[in-house]
Amino acid sequence: MSRGCVALVERSVSSRAAACAREVSKVYGSGEARVVALDSVSVEFVRGQFTAIMGPSGSGKSTLMHCVAGLDTFSSGSVRIGEVELGSLNDKQLTRLRRDKIGFIFQAFNLLPTLTALENITLPLQLAGRKADQEWLETVIEMVGLSGRLGHLPSELSGGQQQRVAVARALASKPEIVFGDEPTGNLDSRSGAQVLGFLRDSVRELGRTVVMVTHDPVAASYADRVVFLADGRIVDEMREPTADAVLDRMKNLDALRTH
Ligand code: ADP
Ligand code: MG
Repeated sequence: MSRGCVALVERSVSSRAAACAREVSKVYGSGEARVVALDSVSVEFVRGQFTAIMGPSGSGKSTLMHCVAGLDTFSSGSVRIGEVELGSLNDKQLTRLRRDKIGFIFQAFNLLPTLTALENITLPLQLAGRKADQEWLETVIEMVGLSGRLGHLPSELSGGQQQRVAVARALASKPEIVFGDEPTGNLDSRSGAQVLGFLRDSVRELGRTVVMVTHDPVAASYADRVVFLADGRIVDEMREPTADAVLDRMKNLDALRTH
C-alpha cells in the first residue's frame, strides 16, 4: 500500500484529517542502544475532534506527538498536517508551518516571565508578523476566563492561570491543530479540570482540533476518542471514553506488558 497520506483509496477519510501519520517509525540509537520508539504507527486526527493519546510511560506518546507536530524527525513513514506532507518541507518551511498551523501546550507552561499574560498570548503572532484577529482573540481570552488578568506577569498568576495563558497562546493563531503533551501534568486536579474543560470547549464551541498526550484516565475522559499506545505501537482505541473504561484498558495494557 502507498505510504502517502493521500492514497486515492483513503482520500475521503483523509480529507477530514487535520493531521495524519502513515507507517511512521522512529528509532533512537544503534546496536545495543537501539530503541524503536515508534513501530510503524498509522493514525489520523479528525478535524473538530479532541483525541487523547494514552499509554504507559515509555510507550512512545511524546515521540508520536513530536513527530506528527513537526518537532522531531522520524526514521520512516510520512506525516501530513492538513494537506501538507512534512517530508516535502525544508527547515524554514517546517518552522513556518509549525508557527502558522500548529498550537502547542506543554507540561511546563513555558511563558516568558517578563511579558504580561496578553503579551505572552500574542507573542507567536508577533513573531510571525501577523495581526491578531481581534474578535477571535477576545473569544479565546474570554473562554479561558483571563479577561481580568491580561496585564499580569506570569509570576502574579497561579499555575492554573498560567496554563490558561498557554492555552490561549496555542489558540491565538486559529491553528489547524493544537497539540498538548501532558498539559495538566503540573496542575492540581481542580485547575487541571478547568484546563481540560477549555480544551474541550475549544473543540466543541470553537471548532478546533486537539490532540493531547496524557497518562491520566480522567484527563483522557475529556476527549472524544482515545488512542492507546504500547511499546511504540497503536494497540487500541476508544470512542466516548469514561475514566473508568480508560483505566480498565490501561490495566490490561500493563498486564500484557508483564507477560
Ligand atoms: P512516553 O512519552 O510514552 O513516556 P517517549 O516517547 O518519551 O514515551 O519514549 C519512547 C521510547 O523512546 C522510550 O523507550 C524512551 O526511552 C525512548 N526515547 C525517547 N527519547 C529518546 C532519545 N532522545 N534518545 C533515546 N531514546 C529515547
Ligand atoms: Mg512523554
